[in-house]
Amino acid sequence: MIKLIIFDLDNTLFDTYGQLGKNILEQMIHRMKKAGLKKEHEEIMREKYPFLGFRILARELKLSAKLQEIGMSVYKDMDLSGIKPFDDIHVLDELEQKKALVTSGTEEVQIKKIKILGIQHYFQDMVVDKSVSYEGRVNIFSELMKKYKLKPSEVLVIGDLPQVELAAGKSIGMVAVQIIRRDNVLKGEADYRIKDFYELKSIVEELGRKP
Ligand SMILES: [Mg+2]
Repeated sequence: MIKLIIFDLDNTLFDTYGQLGKNILEQMIHRMKKAGLKKEHEEIMREKYPFLGFRILARELKLSAKLQEIGMSVYKDMDLSGIKPFDDIHVLDELEQKKALVTSGTEEVQIKKIKILGIQHYFQDMVVDKSVSYEGRVNIFSELMKKYKLKPSEVLVIGDLPQVELAAGKSIGMVAVQIIRRDNVLKGEADYRIKDFYELKSIVEELGRKP
C-alpha cells in the first residue's frame, strides 16, 4: 500500500519545456554564442535541454564560468507569469496518500513557479534540492520516509528524469513511476511508465489491492 507520493515539479506537474524552456533555450544560445559558445555545445544544448535543464547540462559540458553566468542570468530573469499546471492536476485531490513536492534548481525560481501554478495546497511537504543531483534526492527522499515512518515500498516517486528522481527512488527501494508527457524524453529504468495522473491513480489503487 502506497502511503506517500513524491512528485517532481518540472515537466511532471507542468509543461516546463513547452511553457518556458523553448524560449529560454533560444535566449541562452543567442547570448552565449556572442560569448564564445562552441557549435558542438550548442548542438548538445538543443538536443538535451528539453529534459536536462541548464544546470545539469552546464556541468556535463563543463561550460566556462562566463557562459554559466550568462545561462543562469537568462534562467533567473525568465518570465514565469503565464505558467499553468497540466489539466489533470485535479486528480491529485482524489489520491488519499500524503504528497510531497521535491524539485531542484534555484530556490527562489522554484518557489515562484509553485506559487504562480497555485498548487501548494496539494502538498504536505515541499523541498527544493539545491544540489540538483541524484545524491541530493536520495537524502531528501530518505528524510521524508523517516519523517512519516514508512518503508520504501510504501513510497512512490513520480517524475520525468530517469537518472535523477527515479534512480534515487529506485536505489532506496521505492516504487518509481516515469511520467512521459511528450515524445522526446529520456527513457530509463522505472517500475511503470505513464502518460497522465489518471494512470497514476490506477497504479496506486492496484498497489493498494496487493497484500
Ligand atoms: Mg522534472
